[in-house]
Formats: sequence, C-alpha cells, structure tokens
Amino acid sequence: MALIITEECINCDVCEPECPNEAIYAGVEIYEINPNLCTECVGHFDTPQCVEVCPVECIPKDQDHEETEEQLWKKYHKLIRAAEV
Ligand code: SF4
Ligand code: SF4
Repeated sequence: MALIITEECINCDVCEPECPNEAIYAGVEIYEINPNLCTECVGHFDTPQCVEVCPVECIPKDQDHEETEEQLWKKYHKLIRAAEV
C-alpha cells in the first residue's frame, strides 16, 4: 500500500530527500506522494523513511492504493529495472 500525505503537512521539506524512490514531491499546497513510485520503502528500508522523519505524523497508508507485501516487492523490482535502463 502506498502512503499518502494529509493536509496536516506543514511543508517542512524533511521527507522529500529521504525517499529512496523519489516518490515525494512538492504539490500545489502540500507535499504529495506518487503512489506508483511508493513501495512503503520495501526493498530499501525496514520502515517507511518519510514516516520516520515527519514531525507532525501526517503520512498514513493510502486506503485507495491497497497493495500486498508481494505487490510492493514487484513494484520495487520494476522501479529498479526502469532505473537501470
Ligand atoms: Fe518514499 Fe518510502 Fe515514504 Fe513511500 S514510504 S513515500 S517509498 S519514503
Ligand atoms: Fe509534510 Fe511531514 Fe513531509 Fe514535512 S515531513 S513535508 S510535514 S509530510
């Protein structure tokens, strides 16, 4: 399951550089996560790095993008392959 940034985001910019998949970007009002790039950090870290650093705890799981651990691993391998091309 990808994660999502809620409107409690204070635009502190701390999470964006921590994402191993470059899934986080500055949106129009707050930071946003591209669900196609977020693997919950599977393949890189044991825990979601954005959640670890966010000072206001505004990054829950995105219920609209449910994925199993297996699907997250598949996404990770797909992203790695794309990065190698
Ligand atoms: Fe990036 Fe990991 Fe946060 Fe997903 S959980 S947005 S991959 S830092
Ligand atoms: Fe927003 Fe949290 Fe990211 Fe800061 S760390 S930009 S508050 S989501």
